[in-house]
Formats: sequence, structure tokens, C-alpha cells
Amino acid sequence: MGDLRWRVAVDRDTCIGSGICAASAPDHFTLEDDRSRPLAELVEPEDVVIDAAESCPVEAIVVTDAATGERLAPEE
Ligand code: SF4
Repeated sequence: MGDLRWRVAVDRDTCIGSGICAASAPDHFTLEDDRSRPLAELVEPEDVVIDAAESCPVEAIVVTDAATGERLAPEE
């Protein structure tokens, strides 16, 4: 499973800068010019990343399987 990676993307046009993701997952998101950006595009699988995507009020965060492109969060 060591090769498994998730891809984290933030749509800066959709993000409203609530800061929820940066507060709940500071190792993964930071606010820049009042919009979130992922600290790393590719990450080790971690529930906190999924939780952040599910918690974003405007679903600006999308987590996909880096290998397959399968969408993991938020649920559609
Ligand atoms: S939780 Fe969503 S809206 Fe809030 S800062 Fe993060 S990406 Fe932007």
C-alpha cells in the first residue's frame, strides 16, 4: 500500500475562504490570499483529508485516487 497516494485539489474560484480546512487539517491546507490551497498535491491517505473535503461548505476540495482518478471525497 506504500504506493497509494491521494491527489488533493482546491478550486480557488469556489472556495469562500472559510478557513475550516486549514483549521481542521493544518498539515494539509493553508489560506493564501483568503483562499485555501493544499500544502501538497499528493498525500498519503489520511482520514483528515477526507473529513476536510466533506466539511467544506462549498465542496471546493476534491480528493481523488492519484493512480486511478477515482473521486474519493466529497461524496457526490
Ligand atoms: S473549507 Fe472550503 S471554503 Fe473553507 S477555506 Fe477550505 S476550501 Fe475554502
